[in-house]
Amino acid sequence: MLAYLDHQASTPCDPAVLAAMAPWWSEHPANASSRGHRPGLEAAAAVERARAQVAAALGARAEWVVFTSGATEANNLALKGTAEAALAGASGRRRLVSLVSEHQAVLDPLHYLERHGFPLSLLPVGGDGRLDPDALAAVLGDDVLLVSVMAANNEIGVLQPLAAVAAQCRAHGALLHVDAAQAAGHLPLAMATLGIDLLSLSGHKCGGPKGVGALLLRPGLELAPQLHGGGQEGGRRAGSVAVPLVVGLGEALTLATARQEAEARRLAALRDRLWAALEALGGIVLNGPPPGQERLAHNLNITVLGVDGAALHQRLRRRLAVSSGSACSQGSPSHVLAALGRSRPEAAASIRFGLGATTTAAEIELAITVVSEALAELRR
Ligand SMILES: *Cc1c(COP(=O)(O)O)cnc(C)c1O
Repeated sequence: MLAYLDHQASTPCDPAVLAAMAPWWSEHPANASSRGHRPGLEAAAAVERARAQVAAALGARAEWVVFTSGATEANNLALKGTAEAALAGASGRRRLVSLVSEHQAVLDPLHYLERHGFPLSLLPVGGDGRLDPDALAAVLGDDVLLVSVMAANNEIGVLQPLAAVAAQCRAHGALLHVDAAQAAGHLPLAMATLGIDLLSLSGHKCGGPKGVGALLLRPGLELAPQLHGGGQEGGRRAGSVAVPLVVGLGEALTLATARQEAEARRLAALRDRLWAALEALGGIVLNGPPPGQERLAHNLNITVLGVDGAALHQRLRRRLAVSSGSACSQGSPSHVLAALGRSRPEAAASIRFGLGATTTAAEIELAITVVSEALAELRR
């Protein structure tokens, strides 16, 4: 048996999501932009239903939703689109602010913009991965165009204090972008209530298909499109809308939202069992806040002290699908673990367990056995 515990890299499509998508692959082939015939109008109606589902799950309005190919594209559109629009606007705000521990799909567009004349401030995080609101306050000024802070970290599951961040941004007239790829569908996230201006999400992190996502943006925001073409999505993202994928995304978020509370409770219990057993092995430290505090219920990230990371992961590989502290960026150590103060060898000897909808107690027991056996061997 191989236990799949890498749900934060990608989590399977729910069967109900597959069923919702099924007719839209071939039975209903029309392009949602073909308004001249009934099949086209039906496809357009399916897209609009999905748009309403996505909006409802995020406490937003349907008109705010722009469908994209995923969170990477949504982040690029949010950041580059806002920056480019600012060049044409009246305000002189140019500075971009974010965290060192953001996903590469935020950091890379920000570094790109930095090379194109937008000063960038990357704030450090504390030992538990949380942003210090005082550090944000220190950089916020009337030159700040946009602040980008993720809702939940993909590696260590830490939740950022979004309400406090949003209040600070509002007070200084800066826009707030939130990469919510790991949070959407997993925890309550009401965009309007929190005061988030732009929010990115991804289908395959919440039980939907790969290759689809969305950018939600509050009305009145200037956004320069990054894909030019057929004028779809209100001119904000050209390209034929991927009808089956979008239908799947809408269904996935509706299901995930309905199950959210019960599922978080179930996965937190499994995660707590895993951590209790691993902690008892000794010489293992947790990355991110302790379970029960500001972290995702379905994430556990640990560093095994004093063992070789490659040897450790080689022993896990056959029976556990997990992430290491180096898998994410072509073998270089995780920038998130480095931000917490972990050394290169410590990062390599780290394990991310991502639990999900299909995770069973038997898989957790297997994970405990496999890690225990690996450590016994390595420490012999
Ligand atoms: C997965 C992920 C992304 C990228 O999403 P895609 O839809 O795969 O492009 C961006 N940000 C975070 C936090 C993620 O976890």
